Amino acid sequence: MPDADRTIADATCTACGCLCDDIVLTVSNHRIVAAEHACPIGAAWFLADHGPGDRPIATIEGQPATAEQALGRAAEILAKSRSPLIVGLTRTSLETQARAVAIADRLGAAIDPGDSGDSLPRWRAIQRVGIVSATLGEVKNRADVIVFWGVDPITTHPRHLERYSVGPRGRFVPEGRAGRTVVVVDVAPTATSAVADRFVRIVADEQGEVLATLRALVLGVEMPEAEDPVRELAETLKTARYGAFFFGPDLGRSRGGEAVVEDALKLVRDLNHATRFVALTLGGPGNPSGAEAVLTWQAGSPRAVDFSAGFPQFLPDDATAEAMLSQGRADAVLIVADDPTGFLSGEARAHLGRIPTIVIGPDATSRDATVALGSATMGIHSGGTIMRCDGATLPLRPALATTRPSDLEWLTDLERRLTEIPGEPRAISP
Ligand code: SF4
Repeated sequence: MPDADRTIADATCTACGCLCDDIVLTVSNHRIVAAEHACPIGAAWFLADHGPGDRPIATIEGQPATAEQALGRAAEILAKSRSPLIVGLTRTSLETQARAVAIADRLGAAIDPGDSGDSLPRWRAIQRVGIVSATLGEVKNRADVIVFWGVDPITTHPRHLERYSVGPRGRFVPEGRAGRTVVVVDVAPTATSAVADRFVRIVADEQGEVLATLRALVLGVEMPEAEDPVRELAETLKTARYGAFFFGPDLGRSRGGEAVVEDALKLVRDLNHATRFVALTLGGPGNPSGAEAVLTWQAGSPRAVDFSAGFPQFLPDDATAEAMLSQGRADAVLIVADDPTGFLSGEARAHLGRIPTIVIGPDATSRDATVALGSATMGIHSGGTIMRCDGATLPLRPALATTRPSDLEWLTDLERRLTEIPGEPRAISP
C-alpha cells in the first residue's frame, strides 16, 4: 500500500514491554510524523527514519547480492552445518517465531532467544514452584496494592502506571490512583519510588533474606529480628484485597539467582492463602514473551531448546546461545530479527566471529554477517501478532510500505530452499 497521507488508529508500540495499542499515527510524505498517545520513548521509535537508505537488500560477505543469491548461500550454510544455532526472535511476530522453530526442527538446530542469562533464572523458578499470575486488565480492574520490586517503570515503561497498574479507574477500584497503595522496593530511590506511597530500601544481595522474612511474616511466623519497614510491608501485603507484584531480571541477578526469584514466587503464592495476589514481569521491548510462548507451544520449553536428537529437548545448561557459542559447539548461526550479542560473553562473541552467520533484520546489511537479509521493520512496515507479558495477544498495524520482505517472508523462502537441498543425514549429538 502506498504511503498516502493518512492516520492509523490503535497502532501498537513495541518500544517497551507495555505494548501500548492505542497509538494514533499520522503518516505524511512516507514518514510517520505524529504518534498520539505515545510516551517520549514510543514517539522516538515511531518517528525515527525506518527507511533502508542506500543499504542493499542483501549481502554476501559484505558485498551486495540479490535476494536469490543470498538465500541460496544461506540455505547452503545451514544445510552443511552439523550443529546450527538459531538465536534472536524477540523483535518479531509470533508467526515469524513459529517459522523459526519449524526451521530449527528441520535442521536439528538449537534455538534460544539469546538473553537466557537474564531470563533463565525466572523460568527455572517458574518451572519449580509455578507462578500465580493474571492479565494486566485484571490488575487494572482489581488491584488495590501494587508492589514494584527492583523495577522502575516510570523510566523503562513510561505508561505502565497510567494504563495498567496505578492510575486507571478499575471496576473494583473506581477511585483509580486514590484507591491503590503503591510500594516500591529497590536498592535506591527511583522515579517510580518518588510517586509511590512507600519506598522500602534494600541491599541487592539481601533480597532473598528480605523475601524469606516477608514470607514467614505472611505465614504468621514470629520474626523478632524483622525490621519495621519489612514488618509494615508484610502487613500491607496481607491486608490487600488484591495485590500485584511486579518484578524484573534484577531479582535473578542478585546473590542466590533463581532461588531469589523462587522466594518471590513463593511469597506471592503464600499470600493467596489470605487474599488474592499475582506476580508479573514488566515485559521487554518487541515480542520476547511471544518467543517464549511459541517455543513452549511448539517445543515444550521457553528457551534453550535442542532439536539435534530429532525431538525437542530443554537443555538449559547446554542449548543456550551463550553455551553453544562460548563452548565452540555451534558451527553456523541464524540470527533472526534481533541482535543478541549484547547478552553474550566475550568468548561467545569471539566464536560468533569465527563461524558463518546469517542475519535477518531491518539493519542486517549493515552488520557483520556471512549472509545478511534486510527485512521490513516489525510494527512499522510489517504486521502480525505479538504477545504482551501477561499473555494477551495484540495485532500490529503497520503504517508504512516497503519494498523489503518481512522476516517471515525471508524465513519462508529460506525454508523452501532448504527443502530443495538434498540433505545428508544429520549427525545426532551425543
Ligand atoms: S509506554 Fe512503552 S509501549 Fe507505551 S508508548 Fe511508551 S514506549 Fe511505547
